[in-house]
Amino acid sequence: MTLEEMDKQYVLQTYNRNYVNFKSGQNATLFDENGKDFIDFTSGIGVVSVGHGNGRVADAIYNQVRNITHISNIFLIEPQAKLAKKMVELSGFDMAVFFANSGAEANEGAIKIARKYGQNRFKNKRYKVLTLEYSFHGRTITTLKATGQESFHQNAFSPYPEGFAYKNQIKDIYSAIDDETVGVMIELVQGEGGVQAFDKKEIEELAAFLQKNDLLFMVDEVQTGVFRSGEFLASKFYDIEPDIITLAKGLAGGVPIGAVMTKHKDIFTYGDHGSTFGGNFLSTRAGLEVLDILEDFYKDGFLRNSIDYFDDKLKKIVENHPNLFLNKTGLGLMRGIQCKEGDIVSKTIKASFDEGLLVLKAGRNTIRFLPPLTITKDEINEGFARFEKALDKLK
Ligand SMILES: *Cc1c(COP(=O)(O)O)cnc(C)c1O
Repeated sequence: MTLEEMDKQYVLQTYNRNYVNFKSGQNATLFDENGKDFIDFTSGIGVVSVGHGNGRVADAIYNQVRNITHISNIFLIEPQAKLAKKMVELSGFDMAVFFANSGAEANEGAIKIARKYGQNRFKNKRYKVLTLEYSFHGRTITTLKATGQESFHQNAFSPYPEGFAYKNQIKDIYSAIDDETVGVMIELVQGEGGVQAFDKKEIEELAAFLQKNDLLFMVDEVQTGVFRSGEFLASKFYDIEPDIITLAKGLAGGVPIGAVMTKHKDIFTYGDHGSTFGGNFLSTRAGLEVLDILEDFYKDGFLRNSIDYFDDKLKKIVENHPNLFLNKTGLGLMRGIQCKEGDIVSKTIKASFDEGLLVLKAGRNTIRFLPPLTITKDEINEGFARFEKALDKLK
């Protein structure tokens, strides 16, 4: 039985997989079972923020689990307290953190905070959260419903919980706020929706409006967070101070983790929320090491250099191929190239793979780039050289 057959027989088929068998990785380079190398511009969809096979993270995890992997949240968890402190300090916000295991779960926590706030703060219990039509907030029943894209509300999984409404654009949100609305949840750069970064001024105005009306600004930074935008939080880049921020993907370099940060530090009391695995020794020790590495990368200017270098490469690609591409989108190392037609995306992803380069799709017509934040100049050069070759073959 081949591994592909095994997967197809024993694993529930929810993914349309590519059956390449990766065996090892070093930073932004992966090797398959035949020794063929691939430049990884996906970092496992923004997760392996400090690269594959990161020695510092591996050592930290090993030393942790050699002693204690898990104790439960009934007891003090040293790396959890330290990671929370580190995240709050990096954010510069007066917040506290709850740890979960995924982005969806972090958003569930955010929605619970919003509901309780809606009860405490207003005479009638406000509970409705407004989101955007091209958003993505997760795959649990509630976060599917929070996700504005109609295609995510399949009838097969109904009924969905109440309490969400959608608008196409930021400017439409104001008129949609009614006396049941407790807050607005958005991504500052829509990831799955097509790597669209919102206008800074528009976001600042929304933040000010929500604050003035005591409504919650909930920012889903599951993809934009942890230096992906070039700052620890995209909220810093946008100069806003949200009420609630959710994080996950890149926070622990590949170990499952999710986090909700909020300035409403007293909203939850004992028993209001919890998690068996959330914030355990393994994930939070990994997270601490990842933030240490990335903080240095940020302070030393390496991250900024990589972002500028990557941006320059994207600019040239778009200029060189006006027949294929419209423009470059996104910010930091969360980038996209908008294609003239949707089918260019899948063809390019396939041709890139054949040349030894991994890239992603986003939205309907965008090729998405989410390289490890520690990617080297050589890896960027090699990746784009392969991308050019792939594009040549499309002709
Ligand atoms: C990936 C993602 C999620 C879901 O995270 P999971 O860990 O898959 O549950 C939620 N929001 C955004 C913005 C994401 O990019």
